Amino acid sequence: MDALPKHKIETDEAKFSNLLFQAPVLIVTFQGPSFIVDTVNKKALETWQKSYEQVINKPLFEVSPEFGLGLKEIFNNIYTTGEPFNANEIQVQLKRKGKPDTAYFNSVYQPLRNLDNEIYGIICTGTEVTESVIARKQIEANEKRFSNILSQSLMAIGILKGTEMTVAFANEPLLKILGKGNDVIGKPILEVIPEIKDQPFSKLLQDVYKTGVAFAADEMKGIMLRNEKLEECYFNLVFQPYRDVDDNITGLTILATEITEYVLAKKQIEKSEEKYRGLFDAIDQGLSIIEMIFDETNKPIDYRFLENNSVFSEQTGLPDIINKTAREAIPALDDFWFETFGKVALTGKSIRFTQKSDPLNRWFDVNAFRLGNQGSNKVGVLFTNITGRKKAELDLMASEELFRVLTHNSPDIITRLDKDGRYLYASPSIKKLDGKNAEEFIGRKYREAGLAEHICQLFDTYIPLVLQEKKSHTIEFTAMSGLEVYSRLVPEFNEKGEAVSVMMIHADITERKQAEEKIKESEAKFRALSETIPTMVWTASPDGKKNFFNQYFLNYTGLSFEELKNDGMLKIIFPDDLKKDSQQWQHSFETGEDFKMEKRLRHHDGTFRWHVSHGIAQKDSNGNITGWIGSNTDISEHKIKEQQKDEFISIASHEMKTPLTSAKGYLELILPLLSEENKTAFLYANKANQAVERLHSLVTELLDVSKIQHGQLNYNISTFDFIDMIDEAIENIQLTAKNHSLEKIGNCLHQIKGDKDRLQQVLSNLLTNAIKFSPNADKVLIKIEELDGKIQVSVQDFGVGMSSQHLYKIFERYYRVQEHAVFFQGLGIGLHISSNIIQRHNGTMWADSEPGKGSTFYFTLPL
Ligand code: ADP
Repeated sequence: MDALPKHKIETDEAKFSNLLFQAPVLIVTFQGPSFIVDTVNKKALETWQKSYEQVINKPLFEVSPEFGLGLKEIFNNIYTTGEPFNANEIQVQLKRKGKPDTAYFNSVYQPLRNLDNEIYGIICTGTEVTESVIARKQIEANEKRFSNILSQSLMAIGILKGTEMTVAFANEPLLKILGKGNDVIGKPILEVIPEIKDQPFSKLLQDVYKTGVAFAADEMKGIMLRNEKLEECYFNLVFQPYRDVDDNITGLTILATEITEYVLAKKQIEKSEEKYRGLFDAIDQGLSIIEMIFDETNKPIDYRFLENNSVFSEQTGLPDIINKTAREAIPALDDFWFETFGKVALTGKSIRFTQKSDPLNRWFDVNAFRLGNQGSNKVGVLFTNITGRKKAELDLMASEELFRVLTHNSPDIITRLDKDGRYLYASPSIKKLDGKNAEEFIGRKYREAGLAEHICQLFDTYIPLVLQEKKSHTIEFTAMSGLEVYSRLVPEFNEKGEAVSVMMIHADITERKQAEEKIKESEAKFRALSETIPTMVWTASPDGKKNFFNQYFLNYTGLSFEELKNDGMLKIIFPDDLKKDSQQWQHSFETGEDFKMEKRLRHHDGTFRWHVSHGIAQKDSNGNITGWIGSNTDISEHKIKEQQKDEFISIASHEMKTPLTSAKGYLELILPLLSEENKTAFLYANKANQAVERLHSLVTELLDVSKIQHGQLNYNISTFDFIDMIDEAIENIQLTAKNHSLEKIGNCLHQIKGDKDRLQQVLSNLLTNAIKFSPNADKVLIKIEELDGKIQVSVQDFGVGMSSQHLYKIFERYYRVQEHAVFFQGLGIGLHISSNIIQRHNGTMWADSEPGKGSTFYFTLPL
């Protein structure tokens, strides 16, 4: 359905409400205690998967029992407290394009109030936030996988967040370095290790946070508190900025390996030959001093073990091999070992590596450094047996495999490219791009993989940029398949902190694009419509600054856009209405609630005319206000007529009341005198009395209406038996009802507080209507029930009924259903007075009806 049913589009205001109907925001309003759907827009119907006819004027929980108790409680709470209710990221199961789909909504439920500020219903507005929720969930899931992998790593890894650099994550090795337990999470790093405050570390961390440039260093020195003593420690470190989805730096990652023992050993040995003995055995790593053996061409061919510490045998599993050469001690030795140590001796450059020794069947973490200056062929070697750890590392790779399996099944297309633009990985979903399988990408450069030229050009620009800036970038493109793609290019680093590859996450945003197109279209439609409707229309930015007035607006005020845009409204609003106008706007700006007010606006000829102003906040999918749209509809003629009519009725009924009261008094005096004497005269006088009686009650009703208008209807409050009041009313009406029997069902044993006469007036009015509008029926049912701390009374007839579009209007002043007016007399004020009385008793009143079948009128009162 693309428009409201025709009967709804009758007035200018309704045209405007048609705009609302099309709005990309979900809007529904409910009325009464059974939450009857009063208005509903297109987006709401789509979400609800119901047709307009299925929901309008129906009680919400009858239409959709699945919304259940939770919502009912919320609604009832709004009725009693008047507090709005926000529900974020509510999950809704929908069918879209015939397929089940999960959607998320942010919705706001707010009370609707009548002019007496009493709540009579609820407005629900909702914005779909599915995309952002799903995106966030994916990121959360990714972060979880990621942190799983991190926590298993051998390298110390930590994440610091915020300017305070609070520890958000620290794996076991990092906690070990810090010498702390898990309770460091959530604490600022300087609180955890205050000793680094004046050390280069803390400045480096801050620099990386500020500049976004990663930092990497080997053998970085620091003083750390260890066993309650400040100790010299050494680390290989990488600090990397940690960025959020929008590429803002929100923290840091720390990668660290502690190498204190190795550095100290190296230093000590270098420093003093004598002292090193003691140190030698204090180290819990295998330490060996070896002498390289070179051939004539200076090629290393073997080495000799000069000295080994006690841990050496433990770590290597080798027996005492002092003075033996490596080839003698380990016959199947790989050339790798002496080639590597040879390099250390020749260049003087320390080397650290991890290597398996096949003959020993062990994995070693090895640090090798030259002892002495150029020309020395002595090398110190630290061995740590890491066979156990290595196994853990292999397990880690298995978990990376798991990660791969997961990315494999992600609906997003995930790829990794090395710095030459060669695909290292592509998830199978890449097929969505142009129909080619992942296998056709992996191992190829993107230009060779047959991607469209415009995509290649984007990659040409952005891949080098991402690697160079070490910073994520976002691109959007249309794939050959027509898919609209949103891609995030994320740099990947090696352990030195160099960006070596790029991960690309391509998300399908076709639907979002289409929605944007639709918004553009509806924007154009809005402009076209706003220029043609004979109503003043404006739009404003979120802070209320006006940025558009339609031609009609300019014509009416005789002012230019420039004159209007700043304080123009001050010039045209009637001074008496200014205060309320600015108060209400203030409220709307703060809350995002609709603005509605009647006020006088200056015409260019200098006269002021009454307008109804309407302002509505435009919101994005996160519920943020993106602007305002409003209209002023001229209601001056209507207003003048209404005022004249009210005035006339008020004066006329006042004038009539006195002579009528005295006529009634005299007739009552005459009647007993006539009853004996003259039967015919008595009969006539009786008829006259009845007519006067009726006229009297009409005039009283009219006076009631004008009192309601001026807020002067008085109430005599007392406590009384509710059921007595009902019984009396029924009895009274039954006396004059010849063809109908009034049948009461249910009971109420409570006393209630209120104006008994006024409430009786309500019931009498409903009963009279029920009888009047069901001339061919023979009964009227009155049902009394207790529901959720309230008493509910319904009056059901089996008469002419009415169609649903009248159901709310009948409570308005002077409103009568057109088709009825021909056959039934009335002024259209009984229900107006009744509903006012009920509202003043904090109750609600509503009706249900079907043409030709009959109507039921309900009211509830709090117990
Ligand atoms: P009146 O009955 O004097 O016209 P009311 O305010 O009592 O004024 O009712 C307003 C209108 O609502 C009526 O004119 C009639 O069209 C409609 N209405 C009220 N009660 C019923 C009913 N029981 N069945 C059908 N229509 C009704």
